[in-house]
Amino acid sequence: MNMVFKRKLPIPEEVKEMYPISEAGKKTKEKMDEAIKMCLDGRNHKFLLVIGPCSADREDSVMDYMMRLSALQKEVEDVLILVPRVYTNKPRTTGMGYKGMLHQPDPLGGPDLLKGLIAIRKLHMRVVNETGMSGADEMLYPENHRYLSDVLSYVAVGARSVENQFNRLTASGVDVPVGFKNPTSGDLRVMMNSIRAAQSPHHFIYRNWEVESTGNSYCHAILRGYTDRLGNVHPNYHYEDLKEVASLYKDSGLLNPAVIVDCNHDNSGKLYYEQRRIAKEVLHSMKHDPEINALVKGLMIESYICDGKQNPGDGVYGQSITDPCLGWEKSEELVKEIADILRQRVDGVFVSQDI
Ligand code: PEP
Ligand code: MN
Repeated sequence: MNMVFKRKLPIPEEVKEMYPISEAGKKTKEKMDEAIKMCLDGRNHKFLLVIGPCSADREDSVMDYMMRLSALQKEVEDVLILVPRVYTNKPRTTGMGYKGMLHQPDPLGGPDLLKGLIAIRKLHMRVVNETGMSGADEMLYPENHRYLSDVLSYVAVGARSVENQFNRLTASGVDVPVGFKNPTSGDLRVMMNSIRAAQSPHHFIYRNWEVESTGNSYCHAILRGYTDRLGNVHPNYHYEDLKEVASLYKDSGLLNPAVIVDCNHDNSGKLYYEQRRIAKEVLHSMKHDPEINALVKGLMIESYICDGKQNPGDGVYGQSITDPCLGWEKSEELVKEIADILRQRVDGVFVSQDI
C-alpha cells in the first residue's frame, strides 16, 4: 500500500475535552448561530459579512486581525453581522503548496497533522472566547467537522468540493448554516443540486458510524465567479447573475433561499482591491430590485492586515500567503461604507429604489 499509517489521532470528543470552550464562548456561539439563522430566514434584517484572511496562517496575526474586527463589529451591529473567516484548511488547485494550518501549523515547517488539529482547535477557541464572535471555516474534509463543531457558526463548501456527495451528506447533518459555492466551472445547477441534497435527510457512514441526518434547512448559495474551459475567468455577481439564481430558487421548493456573494476569487479575478467595487455593485443591484434585495443575504470578503499577498517565507506580518486580501484600513472603510448603504433600508427594504 502506498500509504504509511503514521499514528492514530485523538477523536473529536477527546480534542474537545482537552481544549474545552468557555461558558461565555458557548453563549457567544449560541447567539451568533441564531443571529445568522435569523438573517437567512428573514426573521431579522441584518446583512452577513463573512470576512477575514484567505487562510488563517498564524495565530498572532490572525488574532490581531480578529480583535480589530471585534471592535468594528460594535460600530456596525445595527445592520451587519461580521462572521470571522478563520479558514484553517485550504483546497489547492493542483494539490501543491500550503494546505493550511491543519497540515502545517508552522507555514514554513513540514506537515504535522496532530499539531495542526490542536492548533486549529485552539485558534477557533480563542476567536470564540476573546472576540465575542464565532467563526466560519471551510468544510474541506467532512470527517474533520466535529473537531470544530462547537466553535463554528458558519461553514462553507468550496468550489472544488461542491459536487462531492460526502460534503453534501455531512452538511445535511450540520447544525449551522452551510454555504455551497458554485463549482469552478460555474455550473449553477451543481450548486443548486448541492443545496437540495443538503437540505434533505440522509443515512450514511461517518467516522465509522452508521448515521442518520435530518437535513439542514439553512444550506444556501455562494457565488464566487468561475473559469471557462479555455481558462478565462468570469464573474457572476452582476444583476443578471443574481436574477438567474433567483429564478433557479423560484418553484424549487428549497427552504430559506439565500445568496452570499464572494467578492474575491473568480469574481475579482483575485484583484483584491476590486472587492470594494464588487461589494458596492451588489448593494446597488439590491437597491434596484426588491427580489435581489430579499435574496442576497451577505457578502464574503477576503481581508487581512496588509494588502495583497506574499510568498510564505517573505515574513510580512499579516499579509496573506494564499489569495491576495484587502488590507485592514481599506477593509474597515469598506465595512463602514456597506453599513451606511444598508442604513437606507427600513425593515430590510430600501426606502428609495436606484433605477
Ligand atoms: C476560499 O474561500 O479561500 C476558497 C478557496 O474558495 P473557492 O472554493 O471559491 O476557490
Ligand atoms: Mn481564497
